[in-house]
Amino acid sequence: MPKRRNVILKLGGSVVTHKGSSDFPLYPASILESGTRFVNVDAVKRICSEIKDSLQYLGYLVIVHGAGVFGHFPVSEFLKSDESMRVSVGWPLTLYSVQVENLVLLNEMLTCGLPVIGFSPRSMFTATARDRDRPWVSTDASFDPNIIKHLLPTYIPVLFGDLVFDKNGDPAVLSGDTILYLCARELKDVDLVASGTDVQGIFTDDPKKNPDAKLVRRIAFSEKNKLVPKEGSYRDVDGGMSRKFKELMSIAKLGIPSMVIDALKEGNISKALRGEHVGTLIVP
Ligand code: ADP
Repeated sequence: MPKRRNVILKLGGSVVTHKGSSDFPLYPASILESGTRFVNVDAVKRICSEIKDSLQYLGYLVIVHGAGVFGHFPVSEFLKSDESMRVSVGWPLTLYSVQVENLVLLNEMLTCGLPVIGFSPRSMFTATARDRDRPWVSTDASFDPNIIKHLLPTYIPVLFGDLVFDKNGDPAVLSGDTILYLCARELKDVDLVASGTDVQGIFTDDPKKNPDAKLVRRIAFSEKNKLVPKEGSYRDVDGGMSRKFKELMSIAKLGIPSMVIDALKEGNISKALRGEHVGTLIVP
């Protein structure tokens, strides 16, 4: 039997939510009531059963899901309003919204029989650096990895793209992609990071906009400047594919391989968790 692998799995916001929705409600009761309307429940159910069937091949598993429409929509709306509106309504409502998404996803995971434990990044991470061009985005954060390490491999911690705070109490978006990097850096014995999204992998250009874009099957860390992915077509407050690529390259620099896979395609999560090469492989 091959060695059981320790994996951090990202379920992108474009996979677990209807990320392109433009009618996301900005009222607490409506968010709670329509939580399942904006989660891609069918995809999540299928992914949960693929994870369940693959557990025997894994050492430990950490899941990070994207905020999708639950985070990008409110943040992009409230970035347009003034500071007092953001503080009194915008940030509290965004924090609430991504928590609702997390609860809907935990419900599906628990129902499928996965031993998941939800962790709110806001309670674990302190933002320590910000993006120069997008100061509302955190590019680094400190946390105590033992909070989740002690649970492995018995439980599956589930983290998500969230707003976290810096030491002055100012909020910052902590992207699920950045959480992947921070967990890979701090957990230390990670064998693979698999990042599930809604396209086959990393292309030479956005495949949704350029039909001539070619899938890149393998990229080495040394080739990191050859490809500069753009943001994508969703409202992305954290940089979309360009942030994902940057964080996966930082993971490669740690010596950990990663894969970008189409998680909407049946069977791909199973294959990735069992160590097969699907999508784009990024090697140190
Ligand atoms: P997620 O929400 O799943 O984390 P993102 O929305 O951040 O994913 O990124 C995925 C999107 O990035 C795709 O839907 C695609 O349209 C866009 N994109 C932009 N440039 C590229 C590229 N070079 N290769 C692949 N996808 C790209």
